[in-house]
Amino acid sequence: ARFTHDYLEVRGLRVVFDGFVAVDGVDLTVTRGDLRFLIGPNGAGKTTVVDAITGLVPATGSASFGGADLLGRPSHRIARAGVGRTFQTASVFDELTVLQNLDIAAGARRPALSLLRRRQGVPAEVEAALETVGLAHVRDRPAGVLAHGQKQWLEIGMLLVQDARLLLLDEPVAGMSQAEREQTGLLLQRIGEQRTVVVVEHDMEFLRAFAASVTVLHQGKVLAEGTVAQVQADPRVVEVYLGT
Ligand code: ADP
Repeated sequence: ARFTHDYLEVRGLRVVFDGFVAVDGVDLTVTRGDLRFLIGPNGAGKTTVVDAITGLVPATGSASFGGADLLGRPSHRIARAGVGRTFQTASVFDELTVLQNLDIAAGARRPALSLLRRRQGVPAEVEAALETVGLAHVRDRPAGVLAHGQKQWLEIGMLLVQDARLLLLDEPVAGMSQAEREQTGLLLQRIGEQRTVVVVEHDMEFLRAFAASVTVLHQGKVLAEGTVAQVQADPRVVEVYLGT
């Protein structure tokens, strides 16, 4: 019942930079159990939509998750509402081990408990996240020595231990090998069963393999939405994006 209202609802989202309308009245509803891909040509406004939802750029319209309004809130409030994001470049602490990175992320959620936790060993949710993202075998390695894909998975793991129920992932497979892409897709599908996931992505092969649904942005507006098959068959989408 706790998760009944776990959906992202964006209405009339608008972001203007110096008179340039980067996001122009975007509506977006993503429910739990969906694995939504946000695609569109360069400059379509994909990253700006995510930035607006997570409070990095000012926006008008409305955005809520789990019933909590997000626009105009400071980042920590947005995080507390269960919203987490990754960036195109993984931001992990290279000097610290995988486990320490996860521990810090978990502690950020409940700082008062972190001292107690240290005495009790590895917290259950950190252990669970290690397993989920497939990094249990490298838990004691410094994050700086991880393979590119592993760093991205660590960052996703950090969102899991922060108890993010909406994950906004910006090009999670950029720079990954084919095997890493495959693993990432399966990971996102698994996470998507329990949480709400929005993936900003360029890679069409990855999209075809793993997207449950797709929203196509073009010039700051939603051009099309539906299943992969539906948007692929949409002539407007073919014209602006898939045909290129
Ligand atoms: P996408 O992620 O789809 O490639 P972006 O959201 O990054 O597109 O950018 C959308 C548009 O907004 C682009 O034209 C981009 O140049 C512009 N833009 C993005 N961020 C800023 C900013 N901070 N200041 C001015 N213009 C920006």
